[in-house]
Amino acid sequence: MSRSEQLFAAAQKHIPGGVNSPVRAFKSVGGSPIYFKKGEGAYLIDEDDQRYIDYVGSWGPMILGHAYQPVINAVKKSLDNGLGFGAPTEVETLLADKVCEIMPSIEMLRMVNSGTEATMSAIRLARGFTGRDKIVKFEGCYHGHSDSLLVKAGSGALTLGEPSSPGVPASLAEHTITLNFNDLASVEKAFLEIGEQVACIIVEPVAGNMNCILPVAGFLQGLRDICDQYQTVLIFDEVMTGFRVALGGAQQAFGITPDLTTLGKIIGGGLPVGAFGGKKEIMQQIAPLGPVYQAGTLSGNPLSMCAGLAMLNSLADQPEVYQQLAAKSEFLTQGIEAVAQAAGIALATSYIGGMFGIFFTDQQQVTSFAQATACDTERFALFHQGMLKEGIYLAPSAYETGFMSAATSQADIEATIAAAAKVFKTL
Ligand SMILES: *Cc1c(COP(=O)(O)O)cnc(C)c1O
Repeated sequence: MSRSEQLFAAAQKHIPGGVNSPVRAFKSVGGSPIYFKKGEGAYLIDEDDQRYIDYVGSWGPMILGHAYQPVINAVKKSLDNGLGFGAPTEVETLLADKVCEIMPSIEMLRMVNSGTEATMSAIRLARGFTGRDKIVKFEGCYHGHSDSLLVKAGSGALTLGEPSSPGVPASLAEHTITLNFNDLASVEKAFLEIGEQVACIIVEPVAGNMNCILPVAGFLQGLRDICDQYQTVLIFDEVMTGFRVALGGAQQAFGITPDLTTLGKIIGGGLPVGAFGGKKEIMQQIAPLGPVYQAGTLSGNPLSMCAGLAMLNSLADQPEVYQQLAAKSEFLTQGIEAVAQAAGIALATSYIGGMFGIFFTDQQQVTSFAQATACDTERFALFHQGMLKEGIYLAPSAYETGFMSAATSQADIEATIAAAAKVFKTL
């Protein structure tokens, strides 16, 4: 038994399923989760001293590689002053200013501790601001695990076949209208019927929790127009895409201005941080300025803020990183397509900036939830197992996006393509 297997067995005694977040359990790809003890640039080292080229990056934050020194040093510097005071610190303002500078649609923002908290608070705010109850989301888009948003969600919920979770009261779920991503006509139709009751549309501007699906031309602009017409709040959930597909997120990449934005992952530099922000007029409804309540004992924690600030400063200081990430994602996905074709494996790919998708399908391009879920998940499981043996760590679910890091070298990517070529021959 490997040490990872031993640790996983021990974990099951007191931790449900042995994990603190469901996809980590490897249920959909088979085998036992890998326990890591160290991250270094593009690599992860497991408890059995195996090294992997990592394409998960802690699910996004490690865009500049693991143990990125400017972030580590910022945390070290803050550490000796204490872990938190439950009172304001200067670094909260510095990080808020930086986010507003990078994303001009954000005029004010509030820090929280996770992406889930950010989206949950943003929809409460949208409801409070508009005085409306209904919200619109898209099937396969994941916005964290709060009740209203855990209806037909993607990611882990989708991986485990539980798109709509027990424990969410029907009386709450009935206010969540779920439409088809990339299908503007479905949104127009719904708004003709109930547009005046809809507080917000929340969308992942690039869907990253049902693999990696880019918005089709006109989709995001169409949502913007509909929200303007019905005075509905447009929320871009950029927890994943923020600072990843471009420095200014998907809103910069596609040139669409949302009313509210939710952030997570990269904004904490690897520590637990989320944020939601946007138009001043809306953000002023939040307590203590306004009546919509939201709070957090550990929100704005100094260590997390220092990590986030160092991360955003590092990214803003090297804007060329985004072109490089896109070039790497392109090289990887094209290389994988080429070796798949050579092996007679039907496959499609997608990428934008530091996000990429691999779909086992004979479709040319995947643009919908229906197409994403029609992909061959059994083949993905075998691919995942094979790649793991070759020292390539991919997300343990066919419905997760791949994450490229600035630390990943050309040689790493070539090794990954070579590994894929080898594994494809066994499928
Ligand atoms: C990861 C993610 C979330 C949830 O963030 P947590 O920090 O896991 O709560 C919400 N929305 C999107 C788009 C995400 O990718």
